Amino acid sequence: MVIDLTGKIALVTGGARGIGRETSLRLAEAGARVVINYQKSLEAAEALKAELAGRGLETDLFQADVSKPEEVDALFARIRDRHGRLDILVNNAGIIKDTLLLNMDLSDWDRVHDVNLKGAFLCTRAAAELMMLHHAGKIINIASVGAIRGGRGQTNYASSKGGLLAFTRACAVELGSKGIQVNAVLPGMIQTDMSRLVRKRAGETLLERIPMGRFGEPTEVAHLVVFLASDRADYITGQAIAVDGGFSVA
Ligand code: NAD
Repeated sequence: MVIDLTGKIALVTGGARGIGRETSLRLAEAGARVVINYQKSLEAAEALKAELAGRGLETDLFQADVSKPEEVDALFARIRDRHGRLDILVNNAGIIKDTLLLNMDLSDWDRVHDVNLKGAFLCTRAAAELMMLHHAGKIINIASVGAIRGGRGQTNYASSKGGLLAFTRACAVELGSKGIQVNAVLPGMIQTDMSRLVRKRAGETLLERIPMGRFGEPTEVAHLVVFLASDRADYITGQAIAVDGGFSVA
């Protein structure tokens, strides 16, 4: 199956590292012009831009904290001015601030929701406005298996990702008639900076709970995102698909 995204404009939030980086890379390889949003990872973003430029693939970089309405406004103003359209949005930016419930500060609760859920809301609202102009668009939310399976020390994270799942479904209902499909991807334990500490602390125990007996690679998540961003997924909306080696069904 060849996926061709030539002529499409895609935005990947937190697109310079980890799953976001692989997603930016794979979307660009499929032909999309990718706007790579980053918050602090300027060096990683520039390295990715240079790597893709070396292969003749053009990208745009834009610094913004997705939890800040004024910065999201500026990001979308740039996309509107430069490209006049947006075809694909990947709400990937996310953080963890794990701690047990009784130790959880309000600031840790709020910050995780601000980035993981409010950030996705702000970007989705702005993207939907642009996508409606052409009556077409794909929005892919990177949630987590944490949205459907509890994990110790992750009440804030699970709640934000569970909210993102519910948000995905409600958006799919509202935007279906506008030609926009909205889906969620639920990564399991993927080898990125975010999961490093958990893998280090509980690696062996965790592996025993994953039927496939290994952690996932960022690119294994990115492949599904590229499919959901393509016309091959035109009749799929409101769905949540896990990429987790079977963890969520074990
Ligand atoms: P990562 O820490 O490598 O990457 C997260 C990215 O989000 C970084 O580029 C970071 O700069 C960016 N980001 C953070 N806050 C931001 C903000 N306020 N504005 C803009 N960008 C911001 O982690 P990752 O594993 O690649 O995570 C990507 C997504 O996948 C996240 O939403 C995460 O919750 C989800 N996820 C990851 C795993 C895993 O095992 N790695 C599992 C389930 C879900």
